[in-house]
Amino acid sequence: MHEWSLAEAVVNSLLSFARKEGVSSFREVELTFGEVMELNRDIFRTAFEELSRGTPLEGARLVIREEPALFRCNSCGHTWDFDEAHKMLSHELGILEEPSGDRESPLHFLPDLARALLKCPSCGSRDFELVSGKNLRVSRVVISE
Ligand SMILES: [Zn+2]
Repeated sequence: MHEWSLAEAVVNSLLSFARKEGVSSFREVELTFGEVMELNRDIFRTAFEELSRGTPLEGARLVIREEPALFRCNSCGHTWDFDEAHKMLSHELGILEEPSGDRESPLHFLPDLARALLKCPSCGSRDFELVSGKNLRVSRVVISE
């Protein structure tokens, strides 16, 4: 129920903003999610709508954007993306993708393990950072008069 707790956190922070600023109604809310969060948009949207009922957020248009993940090696500066990280982990863990194309992401379920297993595809260093695509933020709100 990762989506529900995220939706709750977003709704709570927007409502506290509304109280502070005296906003009575939102027309649009745009959220940016990091790719690493692997959000299920449908579940999130449902949760957001449920939690918004009877608040200034009810009826607001919800726009969901995704920010691609980018890893950067601190030793050699090489950068790589989420797909490459997935392939590397699948290889390290011996996980094969389902023939249907579905995949269970070890990054999603086991972030610490992912951290321990991933390494720079160029130089092999384990000193790397996730430089983008890891956070959730409210990127824009449109307020009704
Ligand atoms: Zn490197």
